[in-house]
Amino acid sequence: MQRLSIRHRIFVGTMAVILGFVVVTSFVMDRLVERFLDRELSSVLARGEAAYHRFAAIRGGLLGEKARSMAQVPQLRALLNTPEIDEESFAFTADSMKEVAGAPLLVFGDARGNLLYHSLDRGEYGASLLERPGVAAVLVGRPYTGFWSDGDAFYLVSAAAATIEGEVLGFVCLGYPVDEEAAADLRHITGHDVTVLHDGAVLTASWEDELPPSLAAGSSLSPLIEQELNGARENVRLEIENLEILATAVRLDDETVLVLSRPLNDVVRPFAAAKHNITLLGLGFALLALLACERLAKRIGRPIQALSRAADDLAHGDLAAKVEPTGEDEIGDLGRHFNDMARRIEALVAETNEKARAAQAASEAKSLFLATMSHEIRTPLNGVLGFNELLLETDLTDEQREFVTTAKRSGEDLLSIINDILDFSKIEAGKLEFEEVEFSLRTLLDHAFEPLQPVIRNKEIELHLDVAPAVPDRCLGAVSRLRQILQNYASNAVKFTMRGGIRVRAEVVAKDSDGFLLRVAVTDTGIGISAEDQERLFHPFSQVDGTTTRRFGGTGLGLAITRNLAELMGGTCGVESEPGAGSTFWFTARVKRVPDAAQPAPALPSRSDATGDCERRDKRILVAEDHPINRRMVSLILKKAGWEHAFAEDGEEALARLAEDSFDLVLMDCQMPNMDGFEATRRIRADEEGTGKHLPIVALTANTMRGDREACLEAGMDDFVGKPFKREELLAAVDRFLGAGSLTDAGPPPSS
Ligand code: ADP
Repeated sequence: MQRLSIRHRIFVGTMAVILGFVVVTSFVMDRLVERFLDRELSSVLARGEAAYHRFAAIRGGLLGEKARSMAQVPQLRALLNTPEIDEESFAFTADSMKEVAGAPLLVFGDARGNLLYHSLDRGEYGASLLERPGVAAVLVGRPYTGFWSDGDAFYLVSAAAATIEGEVLGFVCLGYPVDEEAAADLRHITGHDVTVLHDGAVLTASWEDELPPSLAAGSSLSPLIEQELNGARENVRLEIENLEILATAVRLDDETVLVLSRPLNDVVRPFAAAKHNITLLGLGFALLALLACERLAKRIGRPIQALSRAADDLAHGDLAAKVEPTGEDEIGDLGRHFNDMARRIEALVAETNEKARAAQAASEAKSLFLATMSHEIRTPLNGVLGFNELLLETDLTDEQREFVTTAKRSGEDLLSIINDILDFSKIEAGKLEFEEVEFSLRTLLDHAFEPLQPVIRNKEIELHLDVAPAVPDRCLGAVSRLRQILQNYASNAVKFTMRGGIRVRAEVVAKDSDGFLLRVAVTDTGIGISAEDQERLFHPFSQVDGTTTRRFGGTGLGLAITRNLAELMGGTCGVESEPGAGSTFWFTARVKRVPDAAQPAPALPSRSDATGDCERRDKRILVAEDHPINRRMVSLILKKAGWEHAFAEDGEEALARLAEDSFDLVLMDCQMPNMDGFEATRRIRADEEGTGKHLPIVALTANTMRGDREACLEAGMDDFVGKPFKREELLAAVDRFLGAGSLTDAGPPPSS
């Protein structure tokens, strides 16, 4: 269902109230009318009926009196006493009496009930009148007042006996017709419409309004008559041709009923008019309500709509959103409070943004600091490690060899700590490099444990590598990061395991058209970790307790880095462990399938693959390096490997040397005074343009932050060796370019 606006709700509500009022009022009015009709009209009708009865009694009394006095007229009595009545002279006497009586019907009968005279021109007055109501009674001396019907006519009659000394001689009957005139009289007397029914048909009627035609034609009042016959004394409501009447019946004789009625319309009409007025009034109110709603809508609806729009704008980031407060009432307050709130939000957001900018600046400063520190620490460390390595190859006493080995190991530990701190900072800054290369997981596992082999042998623990057959032989992934995780797990496992074994299990847990989700688990039989301590793992700088640090060393960063690396590679990591029984550290990571067309990754050339010593002497290497110790170290390494080389102390000198002499490879430091390695490389490449020549240039740099490799390649260098490097790393890079078959004018080899 659609949402109703406030305006519509107010409108509908008001309408409902008004319509409800109209309906209830009209219902109440109907009930009132009913009650009024039942009580008031009934009593009015009853009064009318009583009036009729009084009138009938008086009229009947008068008529009876008249009949009695006529019966005592001596002339009549004399005539009646005559044995053989002369009809003609009787008619003469009767006619003259008729004048006196003034009644339309005058009937004389003898003592046996035979008709002597009647005043009507027509009529079926048979010879005997004994059949007529009252005659038998009159002949035994009781007077009678009642009704006689005569064909279509109907009379109110009174009869009295003419007597001499108690002997009945005959009788006189006087009658007035129950006709329209009589009905009109009755209407005046009773105050009601009058209808006389005889034998089921209307005999006569006098109504204030026109008589309904159907009533004139016959009788629709039969239910009333039936009720009357049943003796009930209640008023009846009837509907005759849309005319509603309230009626009561008075029985005149066996076949004749007088109906007194009153049209209900007259009574109901004022009520109907009132109802009509109330309805009109209701509609008027409804119209007013409509107008009021319009005003309310303006007053309430619009500000609320504006407020809702402004709130929506605010929610969608328009911090300047505001409303125009209307008036001094609650709605106005709402608007003002909204504006206050919006301004506060605006201020807060501005403040937060400012803080974020400051934080960003601080983070950038931190990154810069780290880059600098990294460079500054790596450069001397390169010297320390390099010379240690070189020293180990000289003739040393056992004691000296032990000292140098220890110094070298310490240097390597220091490098690994610096690497961890750097990695962690890079992850935090989102600046960690993920270079995808082709690799073999089996080889990777072998290599990860290789440096630990001496310790493993020392501790007499067994190492078991187990790669599930489903693990593809070659895949594409961030191999250096996988190696980092593996080395961390491996060195921890070796570090915390005194006896027993270490088992590494690699498997594929999911695969799709793109690649695989690898899972590698390293299980050891070492000291284990309590459940409580496990919770703290994988968070930066968390070691299970201080004693392990003192006993085993470490920064507590390894697992935190592992977790981040695994997540960055679309996987996750975890641990299951039992104190004293050992631990299983596992991680998952996504790797890609090697595309079918791709060539197998070039195997890293080992030193034995390199060209022979005689060839080497043909090739010359230019080393551009400003740091004298590094120059010396590189020189020693290259010389030992049999490579001929020359030095330049900065970019400018390098260019000069290249101009005067021919070289087959340049080892280029990036940061040098006067002209840095990037600029020197760019110039070399610019000079080569169009000649078809390509002098391989390998960067030697302590800058290992993200983007440094890209910067080197972008400047035109072909490869990259980060400081501090190991002797093999440097020689491998040299071999890549100057190995058998590599020519100075060949295109650049694929950079890995
Ligand atoms: P660290 O560089 O100190 O080793 P890690 O993050 O790699 O930092 O490890 C954090 C801590 O987790 C360790 O100091 C050690 O307490 C616990 N831990 C890691 N690996 C193991 C393991 N295989 N067995 C027992 N404890 C371990």
